[in-house]
Amino acid sequence: MLVDTHAHLDEFENLKSILDKARKVGVAAVIAVGSSLETNLKILNIGGEFRRYVYPALGAHPWNLTSDDVEGNFKLIEEKIDKAVAIGEVGLDFWVKTDRNLQVKVFKRVVELSVKYGKPLSIHSRGAWSEAFEIVKSMGVEKAVFHWYTGPENVLNEILDSGYYVSATPAAQYSRYHIEAVKRAPLERLLLETDCPVVYKGVRSDPSSVVETARAVSSIKNTPVDEVAEKTTRNAVKLFKIGLHSL
Ligand SMILES: [Zn+2]
Repeated sequence: MLVDTHAHLDEFENLKSILDKARKVGVAAVIAVGSSLETNLKILNIGGEFRRYVYPALGAHPWNLTSDDVEGNFKLIEEKIDKAVAIGEVGLDFWVKTDRNLQVKVFKRVVELSVKYGKPLSIHSRGAWSEAFEIVKSMGVEKAVFHWYTGPENVLNEILDSGYYVSATPAAQYSRYHIEAVKRAPLERLLLETDCPVVYKGVRSDPSSVVETARAVSSIKNTPVDEVAEKTTRNAVKLFKIGLHSL
């Protein structure tokens, strides 16, 4: 059994068949992340429709800060926090033009919510790995996953030493920096995901693509895929406090 711990399900049209396909290949649960007021609302609806299979996370993505109703989104996140297993996708991205002070301000607010409500964070930290880590650590966050980690090794070591997780995507099949991170992180600190519908090598991913992530991790770590599945699924259950139901 596998868990796709980071999926943008709001971007799919034919969700029922997409999720049936995932079930058939052994995906036992999907953590659906939101990025904005609009996508959080969609994710909540999807979570209601596919209860006990899709688990919502509510977020404020750094890419959406200038176009989104950020205040309205914060209000929604607090109102619906009981329906969320995590806060995400949130974070910092210093490779985009969005003002860094604004990014940091919003990120600190969601980090506060994580601490206040005891919800894990699903963090995007591209180009801002150490800045994101420092904020999370200094604000006393206990549970977090640095999703699709491709940052430097010293920050990765600090992430792991702090008890946080990193997650692997299908890019672990070919992306040098991501492969390095997957190699370094012990299975006890690793989650699997797809970040679907991201296109990997020309193919649009969906939650069933987490099988490819598992195979890539298995080959990087020279560990049987069953063991990768068992350990990473156990991590996901523990971090997000989800129950898995037979497929
Ligand atoms: Zn994402």
